[in-house]
Amino acid sequence: MRIAVLSESDKAETRVAATPETVKKYKALGADVVVQAGAGQRAGIPDAEFEAVGATIAPSATDAARDADIVLKVLRPKPAELATLKQGALLIAIMDPYGHTAALKAMADARVAAFAMELMPRITRAQVMDVLSSQANLAGYRAVIDATAEYGRAMPMMMTAAGTVPAARVFVMGAGVAGLQAIATARRLGAVVTATDVRPAAKEQVQSLGAKFIAVEDEEFKQAETAGGYAKEMSAEYKAKQAALVASHIAKQDIVITTALIPGRPAPKLVSREMVESMKPGSVLVDLAVERGGNVELAEAGKVTDHNGVKIVGHLNMPGRLAATASSLYARNLYAFVETLVDKDTKALAVKWDDELVKATCLTRDGAIVHTAFQPTA
Ligand code: NAD
Repeated sequence: MRIAVLSESDKAETRVAATPETVKKYKALGADVVVQAGAGQRAGIPDAEFEAVGATIAPSATDAARDADIVLKVLRPKPAELATLKQGALLIAIMDPYGHTAALKAMADARVAAFAMELMPRITRAQVMDVLSSQANLAGYRAVIDATAEYGRAMPMMMTAAGTVPAARVFVMGAGVAGLQAIATARRLGAVVTATDVRPAAKEQVQSLGAKFIAVEDEEFKQAETAGGYAKEMSAEYKAKQAALVASHIAKQDIVITTALIPGRPAPKLVSREMVESMKPGSVLVDLAVERGGNVELAEAGKVTDHNGVKIVGHLNMPGRLAATASSLYARNLYAFVETLVDKDTKALAVKWDDELVKATCLTRDGAIVHTAFQPTA
């Protein structure tokens, strides 16, 4: 069994899909590991560290992927890169499948079995493989660090001989994995934190972190969680009530971190231009949903902009801004999944195609898109 770890062709991607720690574990599983030269560079892992634990370094993606049974990546490879993969190889990455049917078709045509790590069911057994959580947690942390750096004032209340400095007021919109970490981080820095979400279960979690929960708690809110624990798209009426509540609250905030997402849908627009304009100059907004269309009307993907003195941070790939930590957790998530695809006695690949984790994540196989959620429309 041969496992290839490829470099990321996307310039914005700093993470790597394996670390020396996981390479060692793959070796113990009986695999030969080939790492493309420079794959770990942007995550602070030189080739020599992979070599030291028994990996072979290949000069190019073609050399690394040749004959590989499993190919590990952070992001889905571009169609041109698929030609380097062996037919029948398992390709495991964050696939961003929604709305990208052509890319899925290209993987099917390349006859690889592509697995989308972000579709891993959020069940107890698969928690260790949950890339959405491992990466969102870091994104939430980093959002507060970036906001703090952009904010020209102190976060905690300080009582000094020259007088008292008030604590910053931080409002977190969306209290899932990223939002809860943002709340915890802002609290640790001494900010006064409030948060909102449309899922009733979030209220207690927000309060347990010492933040105040703010939401329109009507009948629709009470039903707003899906069986999978995700948010539903809210009605226009709810959104209007939520916007009115948020509008009066936002004007009093120093920092707003938005993290609201709905699986498979564009991010809900939560902060309008008028709301940004109601904030004091010097305030900061960080939009973690910017890659999915953004929660903040004026946020620009990949940019930090200034609107009448209010800074709007739209960094892409927030987990990648902590490349070493993000790679370390992502690599462990991948290893935990790969381990389930290997027979420990024969040390050979033994994919159980009817396993619920495989069924939930497998997008393409034997030349076809096999995932029911992504069937091309006739
Ligand atoms: P997500 O990234 O899909 O969305 C982020 C948050 O935005 C969610 O809390 C969502 O409710 C919220 N949101 C959506 N629309 C909103 C709106 N209009 N206004 C305000 N907030 C809005 O969510 P996530 O972080 O992936 O977590 C979703 C749920 O899954 C949470 O309950 C989380 O605790 C749970 N979870 C469970 C497991 C597990 O293994 N059991 C693992 C991770 C997360």
